Amino acid sequence: MLEKRQFYINGSWVDPVSQNDLVVMNPSTEEACAVISLGNTADTDAAVAAANAAFPGWAALDMEARSAYLHKFYDIYVARQAEMGAAISMEMGAPIDLATNSQWGCGPWHMDGFFEAMDSFEQERAYRNERVRMEPIGVCGMITPWNWPMNQVVLKVIPALAVGCTVVLKPSEIAPLSSLLFAEMMDEAGLPKGVFNLVNGDGAGVGTQLSTHPDVDMISFTGSTRAGVAISKAAADSLKRVSLELGGKGANIVFADAPEKAVRNGVLHCMNNSGQSCNAPTRMLVERSYYPEALDIAKATAAKVAVDLSEKPGRHIGPVVSEAQFDKIQGLIETGIKEGATVLAGGLGRPEGLNKGYFVRPTIFADVTPDMTIYREEIFGPVLAITPFDDEAQAIEMANDTVYGLTNYIQTEDSEKRLRVARAVRSGMVETNSVGFGHGIPFGGMKQSGNGREGGPWGLEEFCEVKVISGCPM
Ligand code: NAD
Repeated sequence: MLEKRQFYINGSWVDPVSQNDLVVMNPSTEEACAVISLGNTADTDAAVAAANAAFPGWAALDMEARSAYLHKFYDIYVARQAEMGAAISMEMGAPIDLATNSQWGCGPWHMDGFFEAMDSFEQERAYRNERVRMEPIGVCGMITPWNWPMNQVVLKVIPALAVGCTVVLKPSEIAPLSSLLFAEMMDEAGLPKGVFNLVNGDGAGVGTQLSTHPDVDMISFTGSTRAGVAISKAAADSLKRVSLELGGKGANIVFADAPEKAVRNGVLHCMNNSGQSCNAPTRMLVERSYYPEALDIAKATAAKVAVDLSEKPGRHIGPVVSEAQFDKIQGLIETGIKEGATVLAGGLGRPEGLNKGYFVRPTIFADVTPDMTIYREEIFGPVLAITPFDDEAQAIEMANDTVYGLTNYIQTEDSEKRLRVARAVRSGMVETNSVGFGHGIPFGGMKQSGNGREGGPWGLEEFCEVKVISGCPM
């Protein structure tokens, strides 16, 4: 079992002030794989103090100097791909190929987007006779989830450091191993002491200590809407900036003239990463004339989604992250059945042959109505809800009938309709006809999916204050 009790504070690996162990479980085997420490107030204070002390020097460097450190980090991250893939797979259960490719690969992909944005970033620009200056906000507390661990950490840490902020990272206590490796890489890149710090802990402990800390200028949070609300309240007394990337319940609107692979792609996208993606298209809305055919395609596609151990290579899905998550998903599947939805594929219990590990059957419900729990709640498992609609107006109304607004999806060969509907749905992102986004796009949501925008130039600006100066024209 890995012993990873130390924190990374002020350029060194240090022991926690007091012992408070937490065992990290491998969700594929249900066995303990590592032990970490949960920090306390003294650990958090030490990390925040280090970040504060480092801030003036780091902020004073020019973008080029900071970029050189980050490029060095990039090379290290790329060289240690296999290690990172193994850590992610072990802590949160992504199959090893997914962990070593997509999960790891979010890192370089987002960094490329930030490097491009840094090249054209104007720290000072003219606005009529004034000079407008973008300044780093200061010390940033970062709180991240377990589902795409490096995606979230890279989307926050790299842009914050790029613009001159200093950082205290508190990764998910369920999946802390990838972030500890990330900290090792930061150390190897030789950043000045205190610029990047990591303290492990849970939400009630280090998470709350960072949110309430008077010397933390901003909290950048990705996770559940529940925790986003708690953090916003905790941060209110110090009036720090709170940037939120929260849950989702994306609609995938499939019109009768959808491209041939729309339903198949929609099912596979929903099941990817065992359904544990905030932007997953978990509600498929299908035009009624196409509904019977769509159900046949969805059922056939689900039958081909293999579930297997994380350590096995190949394109299967792995377990969900934890026993609590497994139980929650089973409960929601049960509710779906009780509330009268039709089980088209999967259902309760583990897939055949997998008696250990938090494995869930790829499940599709048909005839789901908007009042049903599985239509409304984020399930965060491999569970898809399919609902018919009659016309464009109803499809838009149904897509928007949710507290969330992260990503919606539209499938039609009619380009005018595609754009019209994309404009009408309330979400930060709209993916049409399975055309994926490039790097550096503004990732973020509306409504209860949050208020942040991460990636590219928007990601850099997220960590800046805007200062305007008169009498000093450019
Ligand atoms: P979670 O909210 O339980 O935990 C996320 C992080 O917040 C963890 O580090 C946890 O320790 C911390 N935390 C929990 N309660 C806290 C509190 N009161 N104060 C401070 N910190 C607290 O979420 P999770 O289960 O790890 O992740 C799944 C959720 O994340 C899903 O809802 C998913 O949609 C969302 N998510 C959103 C995005 C996005 O970009 N919008 C991306 C990934 C995941």
